Amino acid sequence: MDIRIIKNPSPSEKPDENALGFGLTYTDHMFIMDYNRSVGWHNARIVPFGPLEIHPAAVVLHYGAEVFEGLKAYRAADGTVRLFRPLDNIRRMNDSAERLCLPVIDEDDAMQALVEFVRLEQDFVPHKSGTSLYIRPFMIATEANLGLHGINEASFIIIASPSGSYYKEGISPVSIMIETEDVRAVKGGTGYAKCGGNYAASTRAGERAEKLGFSQVLWLDGVERKYIEEVGSMNVMFKIAGKVITPDLIGTVLPGITRRSILEMLRDEGYEVEERRISVEEIINALENGTLEEAFGCGTAAVVSPMGKLVFNGREYTINNNEIGPLTAHLYDTLTGIQWGRLEDTKGWVLTI
Ligand SMILES: *Cc1c(COP(=O)(O)O)cnc(C)c1O
Repeated sequence: MDIRIIKNPSPSEKPDENALGFGLTYTDHMFIMDYNRSVGWHNARIVPFGPLEIHPAAVVLHYGAEVFEGLKAYRAADGTVRLFRPLDNIRRMNDSAERLCLPVIDEDDAMQALVEFVRLEQDFVPHKSGTSLYIRPFMIATEANLGLHGINEASFIIIASPSGSYYKEGISPVSIMIETEDVRAVKGGTGYAKCGGNYAASTRAGERAEKLGFSQVLWLDGVERKYIEEVGSMNVMFKIAGKVITPDLIGTVLPGITRRSILEMLRDEGYEVEERRISVEEIINALENGTLEEAFGCGTAAVVSPMGKLVFNGREYTINNNEIGPLTAHLYDTLTGIQWGRLEDTKGWVLTI
């Protein structure tokens, strides 16, 4: 694939690495490629970062035909820039696209776009410990058509944002409320797809929880409101009586790359791991009989996020004295060690740019 490059004539100052937030500043360029049904993907280009021009009747603006990915470029101590399992992001984006009737992209082309874009923007990958360049590939249906009959035109875009450490003051456990009204996903729906619509539908519960002083909600299944699915926009894991248990991927749970990596690491280390349905009742019982040792969310942004408190129907439970547990800390150290190049990458997970 040929990627045309139009350099930004007025490159910006690199942001202050001590004051990086999340998603606040962007790099100088963006990758764009267009699709239409008759010619397929075409016009791959890297152009100066800036506003998009979009038809007011574009399908994405009315019917939400959008999917996205999220991954980071990490700077190792030797200065090299690295991606973590990027092919997994590309494959997942295609799975999401398929669900929303958006066009899929050839894996090699998508990888080339990602690598060439990150290579061009590599000076934006910050150096300070815990910082990274957050990369956001996304796809939108662009054709002007208020009568939705399949998707004939789309764009695939990659933007990137230098981002600060998720844990500026060290990892601290968060308080979580079990959500009993809204649901995030149902079987047959879009729960497994990384699409904007899932986020739009999840916002209300998240906001309600925040008002009540919680960081996020723990989502239950959409049918029986009985089984645990995710925490906020992260996958969730519990350590009960020595075993690590996580909800299985039955279509309602996002197949996280952090989740997959943690499960592989745990199995390699000889832990007993179960991917299965987990009822709230089982968790509450484990809390009451003292066998729930650790609980945490996991995802690219936070890596792991320990749960310190869990509230269900007004009752509050404390997990591991509201402290980060040893396994959670070990997983954080190991994964970030591999990502930032402090530990050897024995699994071939890292792609050096
Ligand atoms: C992106 C995402 C995750 C985590 O996936 P990673 O690949 O580990 O970053 C989990 N749940 C939801 C809903 C997500 O959107």
